[in-house]
Amino acid sequence: MIVMYEALLSDKRFFELLLRLDEDLAGDARAAGCPRCGQVLHAAHYRRKPRGVPEGLVDRYGKRLSFCCAGDAKRHRRTPSSVRFLGRKVYLGAVVVLVSALRGGATPVRMARLDELLGVSRRTVNRWRGWWTEIFPQTRCWAQRAGLFAVPVSTAQLPASLLDRFAGPAASALLSLLRLVLPISGGEATVRAM
Ligand SMILES: [Zn+2]
Repeated sequence: MIVMYEALLSDKRFFELLLRLDEDLAGDARAAGCPRCGQVLHAAHYRRKPRGVPEGLVDRYGKRLSFCCAGDAKRHRRTPSSVRFLGRKVYLGAVVVLVSALRGGATPVRMARLDELLGVSRRTVNRWRGWWTEIFPQTRCWAQRAGLFAVPVSTAQLPASLLDRFAGPAASALLSLLRLVLPISGGEATVRAM
């Protein structure tokens, strides 16, 4: 199980899939027009330098897809949800989820391997764990979703406890989780940055 998740962190196809899903989310948002004034939306992407991107995808991961409307008086920003970026965190959402989940039972050896693989410091991982167990359970996103699970998800064990609830291979479980927390990814959501 843990080995499968570690392998996923360097699986280029998985990160290509996330990119396509983000492009779909952005395409839908753009087609809908400005939610505030109904005007056409134009591309106004943010430059990003996320960490944890597999080799070969760095260029295509350098943009957080976003739009501005063509309104005359005031231009409204519309940033669609993303399965790649989790709020303002520098590391990709997939990395934040997996490393935090693996950290739950991490041995010093495994921590050293993660450090080597991604350059994530122990301090950063501890901060992420604090966010999952203390901040995330208080978000509106979680308030709306916690009730979807007949057996309550242990917030003290997040995000591993949530990941465990999704069946199937590692990639689909992680994707299900990223979809569940989509409102945290930015856009209209106002969530304290990690
Ligand atoms: Zn507008």
